[in-house]
Amino acid sequence: MKLPTCCHCEKELKYKDLLKLTFAFRQHLQCSNCHMKQYVTKKSRAKTSLLTFPFLFLFFFLQYLQIPFAVLFPSYIIVAIGVLFLMPFFYSFTNDEEPLW
Ligand SMILES: [Zn+2]
Repeated sequence: MKLPTCCHCEKELKYKDLLKLTFAFRQHLQCSNCHMKQYVTKKSRAKTSLLTFPFLFLFFFLQYLQIPFAVLFPSYIIVAIGVLFLMPFFYSFTNDEEPLW
């Protein structure tokens, strides 16, 4: 998997900055190389939100199997953290802010 690159200077963006973007729920990022602001594309926003669906499905499926909550909850947390840490690889950026819808 490759990390996204800056749309101004083509330099690969830092994983740390991308992770911060995930946790801050912001839609823009400043490149650490050229200091230009760039915005998450509509397409990658859709991709990252699609990542959460299999995760929700898994949760309901495990509940359906009547797996005890004591097992379900920690595994849910582990999967959630896994998804969050994978998100930086699914971002792509553009120079202009795109409308949400
Ligand atoms: Zn840059």
